[in-house]
Amino acid sequence: MQARTNELIEHDVSLRPFNTFGVDVRASMFARIGSIERLQQVLSDVRVIAAPRLVLGGGSNVLFTRDFDGCILKIEIPGVQCEDAGESWRVRVGAGEGWHSIVERLIDDGKPGLENLALIPGSVGAAPIQNIGAYGVELAERFDSLRVWNFGAGSLQRMTSDECKFAYRDSVFKHQADRRLIVDVTFALPRKWSPVADYADVAAELRQRNVTQPQARDIFSAVVAIRRRKLPDPLVFGNAGSFFKNPVVSRQQRTELIDRHPSLVSYDIGGGRYKLAAGWLIDACGLKGAVRGRAAVYDKQALVLVNLGGATGAEILALAREVQDAVRARFGIELDPEPRIIGHAAVA
Ligand SMILES: Cc1cc2nc3c(=O)[nH]c(=O)nc-3n(C[C@H](O)[C@H](O)[C@H](O)COP(=O)(O)OP(=O)(O)OC[C@H]3O[C@@H](n4cnc5c(N)ncnc54)[C@H](O)[C@@H]3O)c2cc1C
Repeated sequence: MQARTNELIEHDVSLRPFNTFGVDVRASMFARIGSIERLQQVLSDVRVIAAPRLVLGGGSNVLFTRDFDGCILKIEIPGVQCEDAGESWRVRVGAGEGWHSIVERLIDDGKPGLENLALIPGSVGAAPIQNIGAYGVELAERFDSLRVWNFGAGSLQRMTSDECKFAYRDSVFKHQADRRLIVDVTFALPRKWSPVADYADVAAELRQRNVTQPQARDIFSAVVAIRRRKLPDPLVFGNAGSFFKNPVVSRQQRTELIDRHPSLVSYDIGGGRYKLAAGWLIDACGLKGAVRGRAAVYDKQALVLVNLGGATGAEILALAREVQDAVRARFGIELDPEPRIIGHAAVA
């Protein structure tokens, strides 16, 4: 077995092409996982058994701050299977499929429902990790179940939505990292589709395009256009999308903040809780567009940190800490990072 696994594991591999921040760190071992059989082979290698492991999809929600002394399991499991489940289409997708191309393919196949989540980078298998969301829709709303490889048990398990404990940019997987590898995700896409087009940016884009009764394709195109305008292309400036989550506060905290900062942007999320626009908080600290060496706060969207070229993960992390310190000092609010920080302790 050892002789066979030698061919499956590469050594001393640059991770620069495998993270959208474009940070140039190295991994001591790197294995491409295209099937469960391949995973089992790799996991049987004594060098892998003894080393830390990291499951990696498209690398669009991670920040490496130093070399990774362990084995990267790069998920490339393919496949799409559709089933008519009465009220919905049940679609099982391999974890290694690209998120955006699956969204587009399903719309082309007449199975809409994911169009608001168009152009989010990364893999299908990572989408449940932070319950990806954008423009009024979260993955959890279109989710049926998933299958994981449980490293501890050494077997496949199915998990329901309840077991995944989805919340705002959160799930059980964020709190129990590296215990399970998501093998595939099954979506439930409603056969009776209705548009989610009330999000301000989407509504404005559709109005501008004179679309009054949007189809899934219209929403898909609108979301793609908005995102292309607002977010930096990782191929130009390395980034991981929003670096911080929007903080959630109580009604009383919000009232106190509004008294002091009347233009504060916030959204009622029900239950007496409010989401504050983290981008507004950062902008109000005068940090939008701030440049620190080769790292910067993106000048068009303060929630995004960018690699201007050649920045290390540690430089980007130092900027993240500066942003957190400034927001804490001015507003008394903690900003939690969205991407997983690998190498140093998380910034919050
Ligand atoms: C320009 C840009 C825009 C973005 N916009 C959004 C947005 O609008 N909304 C949003 O929610 N996110 C957004 N993101 C963040 C990111 O795209 C998503 O979180 C995406 O789901 C990450 O996928 P990935 O395959 O790149 O994951 P990776 O970065 O490879 O991994 C992220 C985490 O998931 C784990 N993981 C990956 N695959 C698996 C698997 N198969 N099984 C178990 N664990 C796994 C990793 O260990 C890591 O902890 C954006 C990122 C960028 C660069």
